Amino acid sequence: MADLSARCESGHARLAGMRRRLKLAGRACLARIPSACGLCQGGARGGSLCRFCHAAVLRSMNSDTTRCPICCLALADQGVCADCAARPPAFDRIIAAFDYAPPGDLLIHHLKVGRRFTSAVMLAGMLAETVRDKAPRLPENALLVPVPASKASILARGFNPAAEIARGLARELHMDCQPGLLLRAREGGRQTHLTRLERAASVQHLYDCPRRVDGAAIAVVDDVLTTGSTLHRIAQQFKAVGAAAVYGLVLARTPYPGPKPPGQ
Ligand SMILES: [Zn+2]
Ligand SMILES: [Zn+2]
Repeated sequence: MADLSARCESGHARLAGMRRRLKLAGRACLARIPSACGLCQGGARGGSLCRFCHAAVLRSMNSDTTRCPICCLALADQGVCADCAARPPAFDRIIAAFDYAPPGDLLIHHLKVGRRFTSAVMLAGMLAETVRDKAPRLPENALLVPVPASKASILARGFNPAAEIARGLARELHMDCQPGLLLRAREGGRQTHLTRLERAASVQHLYDCPRRVDGAAIAVVDDVLTTGSTLHRIAQQFKAVGAAAVYGLVLARTPYPGPKPPGQ
């Protein structure tokens, strides 16, 4: 009997390994298929950007621009930005793939307004690249948690961009994604025209952390960081249930004063 169950287990493990290898081979094949660049429509592969556009989008974060070490805001001088100095956020650090400015802002527009679901895979790949290269490194055991969208926006768009990006990051970085650690407690309105103070008040009771996460490093995933109010509130809640550190992983960081991203 014991022998039979051991053989079953080894059969399952072999099947799982085969499935994993097939998936990887499938992904490698897809990555080689010629496609049009999502920005210039020039030649690219596997639904990615062409090399020129890829570099142009990531240039803002790869340049020598001085940034706030906490919220990743571009600054004229070294040090912590005025906002983080005046009101230290509850999150430990933000990692952003690019500034919410041309040409990267167009990709966010495609994803959120154009509902281009497939852009999420390419954008998650760009953020994964940034996370891999960023020092100090994100803890390998950090848990990825997407910011939950309202029911209204999921119904309107058909998907939650943050959840798709988190799923892509988990695949690229071999990290654990646990969406159930952060729930939407109520609907809440759009934040587009709210001031910083109004945004802070509007996110006060929006989310809920249903479980303790003692000692865990949490990497909260969102599409765009504007004032940081949402990630600040979420980080406060995660730390209240035991998180040792809370990071924010976002596609784009809005420069100050910057354009308002769609749906913010
Ligand atoms: Zn291009
Ligand atoms: Zn800052």
